[in-house]
Amino acid sequence: MSQVSLHQITKNFGATEVLHGVSLDIQNGEFLTLVGPSGCGKSTLLRIIAGLERQTGGSVRIGERSVDHLRPRDRDLAMVFQSYALYPHLNVFDNIAVPLRMRRLSFYHRLPLIGRVMPGRAANERAIAEEVRSVADTLDIGHLLDRKPGQLSGGQRQRVAVGRAMVRRPVAFLMDEPLSNLDAKLRVHMRAEIAQLHRRLGVTFIYVTHDQAEAMTMSDRVAVMMDGDLLQVATPDDIYRNPLDIRVAEFIGSPK
Ligand code: ADP
Ligand code: MG
Repeated sequence: MSQVSLHQITKNFGATEVLHGVSLDIQNGEFLTLVGPSGCGKSTLLRIIAGLERQTGGSVRIGERSVDHLRPRDRDLAMVFQSYALYPHLNVFDNIAVPLRMRRLSFYHRLPLIGRVMPGRAANERAIAEEVRSVADTLDIGHLLDRKPGQLSGGQRQRVAVGRAMVRRPVAFLMDEPLSNLDAKLRVHMRAEIAQLHRRLGVTFIYVTHDQAEAMTMSDRVAVMMDGDLLQVATPDDIYRNPLDIRVAEFIGSPK
């Protein structure tokens, strides 16, 4: 069954249409990369999936549900931002725990406050600690829980950002050019890290890059995008050997 399903998505900014009816079915657990030149609409499409941007036409389904009416945080997705956006004054443990503590607050804020008591704070903190430790162990950062972000390497910081996303138990991770700020050597190393993370977690990854080498080495399937259209969606091997369009061949660098 497909995990994320896009049906005829269009997007206008003012009079300009930047997405021209994109349809795509992303399978449960797959690593799907949207690749294409700068300005072709990748980030806009990813933001529409995440609910950070509203499409002009078409619909998004996640699992069995239409999510068009849902706010970003109700879509069960995790967007991992390029800047990592960790809180510099909090240690790793507290950074990962942020969504768990926020969920609890937002739940109680919705109830009438008069006459209500917050339930067992200690018990809740124990549950939070258990969850944070388990996620940190999965990511091999269990030994870094007391450190501040400034004391971590780029790769470790990214794992913390992923950990903070994981505690919300997303059905898919969305990543928009997460490696574009890194130097070439670290970028190659991080490709392998992200691919390994995907294998470990076994959840759907929707990854955006303008770098065709990155797309071809990391993905189960690649969706090649140009000027607001998907030109081809296939395995890297298939795209390389059987490009459907001269623009795909040129972008990927297939043999002539
Ligand atoms: P990519 O991520 O592939 O580089 P984007 O999705 O960022 O492309 O942008 C696609 C097109 O939409 C570009 O022409 C860009 O200038 C335009 N665009 C993106 N965001 C906005 C916006 N908020 N307002 C107006 N135009 C935008
Ligand atoms: Mg972009």
